[in-house]
Amino acid sequence: MSTHALTILGSSSALPTSHRFPSAQIVQFFGRFFLIDCGEGTQMQLRKIKVSFAKIQAIFISHLHGDHFLGVFGVLSSFNLLGRTSPLTLYCPPGLQEIIMCHMQFGDYSLNYKLQFITLPKDDHVQIFSDKKISVIAHKVSHRVPCWAFEFTQNVTTRNLKKEYISQYNLSISQIATLKSGKDVLLENSEVLSHTECTYLAPKSSYVYITDTRFLPSLTNHIKAPTLLYHEATFEAKCKQRAHETYHSTSEQAACFAKAVNAKKLIIGHFSARYKQIDKLLNEAREIFPETYAAEDLQSFSF
Ligand SMILES: [Zn+2]
Repeated sequence: MSTHALTILGSSSALPTSHRFPSAQIVQFFGRFFLIDCGEGTQMQLRKIKVSFAKIQAIFISHLHGDHFLGVFGVLSSFNLLGRTSPLTLYCPPGLQEIIMCHMQFGDYSLNYKLQFITLPKDDHVQIFSDKKISVIAHKVSHRVPCWAFEFTQNVTTRNLKKEYISQYNLSISQIATLKSGKDVLLENSEVLSHTECTYLAPKSSYVYITDTRFLPSLTNHIKAPTLLYHEATFEAKCKQRAHETYHSTSEQAACFAKAVNAKKLIIGHFSARYKQIDKLLNEAREIFPETYAAEDLQSFSF
C-alpha cells in the first residue's frame, strides 16, 4: 500500500474564491513532508488538514507571483511561535531571500530555527535535492517571470509482497517486513521462504508539479512516466490564445502533456476565478487523458 500522498491546499489561480485558496500543496513522500508553493492562507489550510508543522522539512516556491508565495511570511512566523527548532530549507527563485530578510528587518523579528535559502538554478533541469530515498529536480518552465516545475523521484527500489503468500503461509507483520527488505524468512516447519519468490520489485513512484507555464512540449523529453502529475489548467480549451498571451495552459494542453509523458494520473488545478464550475475543463482533459482529476482544496491523492 502506497504511503505517498499529495494534499491540495489551494487550487485557484491569482484571484482566490470563496472555496479555492491560491496555490499551495503538501507532498508526503517516503515519510518526508514538503510544502510546494505557499499562497496566502496556506497556514490556515495546513491547520485544517492537521499536518504537524514541525514535520515540514522544506518549502519549494515555483515563482514570485503573489499567489504562489504570499503565505510564506505567516508560515515562517507561525513555525517560530510554535517553538520550531529543526532547520527549514526554502528552495526559491532569486529575490525571495532578500524580500524575507527585508521584512524581518522592518518587522524587527528573527527566527529561532535555522532557515536555509537555496536559490533555484538558472540552468534548465537541475537536481536540487537528494538523499537516500528521493531526489528533486527543478525544471525551468515558460512564464512571465522565472518559474520552475518540481519533480520528486524515488531513488531506492522497494519490494511488494505477492498477496497470495500472506494467507498461504500465514505470515506475520515482521515476516512480511523481512521479506520486503530483501531477506529470506525461516518458517516454523524449517522451510525457507525466499524473498525473490514471494516479492516483486515495485515500480518507482514520482510526483511532478508543473504550474504557471505556457504549454511546454519540450519539457516532455525530460519527464518520465510520473505516477502523479499536477499540471496547471488555468483556462478551458477555447481560451488557448488567452492562455498563450498570459503564459498559462489550458485543460486540453495539460492533458496532452500528461499523455506525452505517459503519466499514470493527472491532477489539473490553478483554475481561473472565472470558472464557477470546472466540469467543462475536466471533461476536456478527460477526452484526451481519461485518468484526469480536478484539484479541490483539502483533497488528497495517494500515489
Ligand atoms: Zn504566475
